[in-house]
Amino acid sequence: MALLLGSIADDFTGATDLANTLVRQGMRTVQLIDVPDPAMPLPEAEAVVVALKSRTIPAADAVKQSLAALAWLRRAGARQILFKYCSTFDSTDAGNIGPVADALLEALGGDFTVFCPAFPENGRTIYKGYLFVGDVLLSESGMRDHPLTPMRDPSLLRVLQRQTPHKVGLVPHAVVRRGTDAVRAAFAALRREGIRHAVLDAIADDDLLTLGAAIADLPLITGGSGIALGLPENFRRAGLLAPTRSADALEPVRGAELVLSGSCSLATLAQVAAMRQRRPVFELDPLRLAAGEDVAGAAIDWAAARMAEGPVLVSASAPPEAVRMAQEKLGRARAGELIESALAAIAKGLVARGARRLVVAGGETAGAVVKALGIKGLRIGPQIDPGVPWTASLGEPRLALALKSGNFGGPDFFLRSFTVLP
Ligand code: ADP
Repeated sequence: MALLLGSIADDFTGATDLANTLVRQGMRTVQLIDVPDPAMPLPEAEAVVVALKSRTIPAADAVKQSLAALAWLRRAGARQILFKYCSTFDSTDAGNIGPVADALLEALGGDFTVFCPAFPENGRTIYKGYLFVGDVLLSESGMRDHPLTPMRDPSLLRVLQRQTPHKVGLVPHAVVRRGTDAVRAAFAALRREGIRHAVLDAIADDDLLTLGAAIADLPLITGGSGIALGLPENFRRAGLLAPTRSADALEPVRGAELVLSGSCSLATLAQVAAMRQRRPVFELDPLRLAAGEDVAGAAIDWAAARMAEGPVLVSASAPPEAVRMAQEKLGRARAGELIESALAAIAKGLVARGARRLVVAGGETAGAVVKALGIKGLRIGPQIDPGVPWTASLGEPRLALALKSGNFGGPDFFLRSFTVLP
């Protein structure tokens, strides 16, 4: 099996979202965590997504990490590179989307690339270069007040132009509607004007498929997971990828089942409430952690005594008032760190006691757990709910992991996920 697509994602759950899209389009996909060790053997995969945490770090660091990931992917034989960022184009005027795209394009010796964060299924559409979230412009959406990357200009042309010295142009929807040849002609016209960066309009999945075919020969593509929709078909057309077949098979993983939750998002709170009706729950209290009690040790003993009879839940999830109270007493960052490191220690302790099938709720929480377990890569398996697949860790011990960011999944997600696993 030869590697076809190499991708560099600027955050962890975004990487999983892309990997899940590729698997569903028939490409066997592995997600690697952080820049892979040069000695790491190439996993059996047609697509590799390297998950960085580079969205909000200084631009120079983001460039350095992205170039290191690119070097590994090229050595592994990737034929095309996709730089994946958020469908709301999360970035500041200092970067990092422009600087990383410029550096990758230069390293690949290219002179032209595209920018398309559209994800119509999730309400992210681009028209005349303006990004919409649902029915409103990006600048009128919740992203306006994001703590790290407030997005107050809805024009992707302007936002990107502030992040790059190169000229930014547009392929408007009127052209996209006319089909792949028209889009290719528009690329050629932009190139003749010396434009290196083209923002692509897309308001529906059909547009993404048209664009997908038009970008088949570009060495570098940039966008959200939506722009990957049409890429597997390009490889199929070129005879490099088998005709449609299922790409989500995982080797069975046997062992105890465990759910860890460090997310306080509304969807997670409903999932915790649903699980509490059916199975035992251990509540983690940040104030007891701060007082120095060995709460993690107690949770490990508690869960180890019960895991053999079915899945148990260890949860720090709490409603907004309780979170606010803990944050007032401990500070926002300290409360978060205490819980993340406790859940990471609990995961490690319980894997040592036989847990093998783990559901983890919370983006940051999942990052902390994966790090503590020393996991370097995940093979992507069957989808549980939109955007959340089962995965299996590379290396030993083999674990099945479902890493769910806060607002994903239906109320019965925790217990139902175990029924999806082979
Ligand atoms: P989500 O994906 O829902 O945003 P994350 O894990 O990314 O979830 O973020 C949730 C943050 O809230 C984590 O840093 C976690 O440690 C913290 N947290 C969880 N429970 C509590 C609590 N009871 N009080 C204060 N902070 C909490």
